[in-house]
Order: sequence, then structure tokens, then C-alpha cells
Amino acid sequence: MIHATGPLLSIDLDAREATTEGIDDVLGAFVGGRGVGTKLAFDRVPFDADPLGPENRLYLTTGPLQHSSMSFTGRMNMTGVSPLTGGLASSNAGGFLSRNFTGTGYAAVELRGAADEPLAVHVREDGVTFESVPELVDAEVPAVTDWAEAEHDLAAEHLACIGPAGEHRVRYACVMTSETRAFGRTGLGAVLGSKNVKVLTFDGDAAADVEIDAVQSEIHREAATSDHIMKRQGTTSVTELANEVEALPTDYFSKQSFDGVEGIGGDAVESKKYKKGTCSQCAFACKLPTRDEAAGVETEGPEFETVMAWGSNQSVDDVVEVMKGNELCDRLGVDTISAGDTMAAYLASEDDLGDAERARELLRKAAFREGEVGDLLAEGVHRAAPELGVDDWTVKGLEFAAHDGRALNGQGLSFAVSNRGADHMYAGFYAKEYPLVSKEEALDKRGLEGKPPLVAEAENHAAVLDSAVACKFSRDFVSDERLGALLDADYDDLLDVGARVVELERAFNNRRGFDRDDDALPYDLDGFADALDEYYAARGWRADGVVPGLGEPGASDGPAAADD
Ligand code: SF4
Repeated sequence: MIHATGPLLSIDLDAREATTEGIDDVLGAFVGGRGVGTKLAFDRVPFDADPLGPENRLYLTTGPLQHSSMSFTGRMNMTGVSPLTGGLASSNAGGFLSRNFTGTGYAAVELRGAADEPLAVHVREDGVTFESVPELVDAEVPAVTDWAEAEHDLAAEHLACIGPAGEHRVRYACVMTSETRAFGRTGLGAVLGSKNVKVLTFDGDAAADVEIDAVQSEIHREAATSDHIMKRQGTTSVTELANEVEALPTDYFSKQSFDGVEGIGGDAVESKKYKKGTCSQCAFACKLPTRDEAAGVETEGPEFETVMAWGSNQSVDDVVEVMKGNELCDRLGVDTISAGDTMAAYLASEDDLGDAERARELLRKAAFREGEVGDLLAEGVHRAAPELGVDDWTVKGLEFAAHDGRALNGQGLSFAVSNRGADHMYAGFYAKEYPLVSKEEALDKRGLEGKPPLVAEAENHAAVLDSAVACKFSRDFVSDERLGALLDADYDDLLDVGARVVELERAFNNRRGFDRDDDALPYDLDGFADALDEYYAARGWRADGVVPGLGEPGASDGPAAADD
């Protein structure tokens, strides 16, 4: 089995010094990306760490596939304890950073402690330098990009930075790269802000030579020549289908389909697309650079989830307004899903859904924690809902993505058991339940019978992709067999790696007090309790959702299998 290569670079922000150490055993057992970030966090972050305290750590990692020039590999991983969920979480960003990170020669970078002033941290193959950046306080993401270009001759694809939201520890702040790409979910931008790091830069020529094998060539060729609808409409191509099967949350989750879908769906987004967009090396190019000259807005996206969070869920039926919301989220550095859902919660509480300009004003206040309203909305739906008097549409504190589980019941189960909360990419189970989203024959979207072991397997598969690191939208091109060939491993052995990653996340969270009670949904699904039992049994966990041994107080750290 191939894996990422290179040492761990550990950066002590208090002392402003960095050390390297070999982690070959971790790389061998966990491949790279999310697997390596999770194992390092499990071993090195105290179980009782305050997510926004100096004892929390952040891990940036790539995988072995970032040494290839194959499509679907322009992504990388970040891991830490989430200020939104309180659990261990990983987030994954596309764009162009992964190759510049790999160029530094490190398999993983760890940030620990906290600086006493705002810093830029520059990582190169020959070491780390620290730069005081008072001039970047409260700078929006494009201003950080301009600064890096002017001061260091580094383009946006060398940066991982936060906007004002991260500095103000907004719980759904993200880390931005390539200006418009986000390590979006679970609030890791607030963690970077708590460490007083405004921007990280990565630059170097230490990456190993690229070798292309026959499988990689075939996948790349197919990605380049495919006429897949995602190449025109990206993720928004699913909007009308989601609406049709009542899987499109609308009016702050009070409905599951939207009368105004035509104004915000795939065709509407495509009509604003002005060029192709992609991630490094990817010939599939599913990204969506859009603009509307009359409105003076240019952005990348909206993706489908943003169409939900800033469109249907806010009762907004104009794609230009959704684009403006998307652009503002990127500028301020917040996750479009959590931010959009949070603004929808507020507007629902005021009976003011549909006012897109108000939603953007509220987000500006939240990003700076301005006034009582801004401070409240910076906390996200879970913490704001009681005061707003609305239902708490989160799982483990993470706001819901689309692909509504009330319609796609297996996806509903997946939202509930996901270690990082109500996120659709943790298992990507929705793709198995929609008719015609992938080449696979769709499951009956209703009911949970037979689905719990499939959810577990889908989670394991996703964890392998996140460790490799390969994009989830490779699903029609990277079969199980091809994934095995790409990583020089039996597919079943890879699933075992994925299972260990999921189990480590679960055990870490168990040690922080998470159990079955946290695997809960804000709606009923027939057979849900039985499905939970079946899911835990499939994983070999206790009926209360706790990992035997690792997840129990006093257990020794690290899974036995990790050292195999
Ligand atoms: S399929 Fe899309 S999101 Fe995935 S790497 Fe390619 S361009 Fe990026």
C-alpha cells in the first residue's frame, strides 16, 4: 500500500520554532490526508482540549496521490477539534494548495500553541519563518491574497488563510485557499484564528517526481473526454432532482421543495458561468466561476449546497442573490452551508425569509461579532436556536447540508451517525439513493432496512478517499478496483484503513463525552433506533455508540491495528 512520504513538521507558535520528526509508522498505517491527521490528533491532542484553546492542534496533510498528475487529486485535508461540534473533525479543500504543500516535502504540518500577535507563518522545504502582520487584522480574504502577492510574490494557491470571521472565532469560520476554496465545514478557521495565525504560506520544490501509470492515465483520459453534466453545472446539476424528490430544504427546513427552484438551479447557475474552473491537475473541471455584470458580482460557485443554504432555505429564488451570498461568505471566510442556515434561522424567527440583502447584512455583523445579533449569529444554529425560538436543525452542532434525510432515509441515518455532524460528504450516501446520480443502480430512498452496514461501508470508503487524497466526485471514474490499483492495495484492506479512521474519530469523541444520544436527528425516521443498533453492531461498537476499549475512559491510546 502506498502512502504519503516525508516527516511531520511541528510548529510551536508560542516559541516560534519548528521541529521535524519521522512518522513513517503513522503514514504506513493511515496512508495520508484525513487518516494521518486523525491519528496524529488522537495521539497528540488532549481529549479535554478546548477547541479554541492553545492545547487544540491543527493538522494539514496531503496523501500519496498528490504526487501524481491525475484528475481528482487537487485536494487536501485539515484536522482538529471543532468549535462547532466539540468533536474531532476533518475538512477537505480543493483548489491548488495541495501541490504547493507537497512541494515543501512534509507529509504533515502541525500547529500547536498560540501566537501572542497576528502572524503569517511561511513554510518552505528549508524551514519555517514567522512574520508579524498587524496590517492584516480584520483583512478580508482577497486583501490577504493581495498582500501575499505584493509582499512575497506568492499567488493565492500558496495560501491557507482566514478572513475576519476566523479572527473573531465565528464557530463556522473556514480556512480559505486559492481565494475561493474552503476547508469549509466544522469551523477550523476559528481554530486558526484562536492561534493568532492569519495566513500560512507553502512553497518549495521538494516533491518527488511524478510517475503516471496506466490506471492513472485511463482515469485522467476519461475525466477529460467525459460529457458528464457536472462538467457544465458542477454540483448544482442535482438541484432540480433534489427538488423533485423532496430533498431540497426550503424556508428554514419547514419544507422539502421550493417553488422558485428554476431561478437558482443548475441551468440558472450555468447561465452565469463565464469560464471553466478546476482544481490542480483535474481535467473534470467541475468548478463554477460565475459573474453578473449588471449586479457587479463575480464569484466561484454557488455549489449546490450554497444554492440550498442561501437560496431555497432562505426562500430566495434569484441566482444572482445566491451568488452575492456565496461571494460574501468567501470574502469573510465562513462555511456557506452553516452561515446560510444560520441566517435562515434568524430570518425565520423574524418571519422575514426571502430578504437576501438582510441575510448578507446579518452575516457581516456575525463575521465581526458586531452587536448582540452578530455575536449570537456567530455561534451558529445550535447555540442560537433557543434564543431565536426556532428548531435546532443541526446534528452534533453542525448545520445540515441539503440531500434531505426525510426523503433520502439512508442519508438521514448517515447525517445522524457521522462523527462530524450533519454533513453530506462524510459518507456521500445520497448518491446511492438518488435515481441516476451515479452509474450505480439507486437504492430505494425510503426506509432504512439493510442500509446501516452500507452506511458504514460508505463512510469507510469516503475515509479512504480523504486519506489518499482523492476527490469524492471521482465516483464514476475511480471504481473500487481502480482505487485499489491506485494505492497498490487490496480494496478490502483499504476499507479496513477507512474503518480505523472512522473508529479513531469516534473514540476521540467518546472520550469527550459523545455517545448514542448524540447520534440524533431533529425528525423521526421509521426504524431509526433499530438502524442505530445495526450500525453499531456492523462496526463492532457498544450499543451506546461507544468504541470498546479506545473510546472508554482509561483505555490506552492508539489502535492496535495502527502499528501493524
Ligand atoms: S472533480 Fe471538481 S472538485 Fe473534484 S478535484 Fe476535480 S475540479 Fe476539483
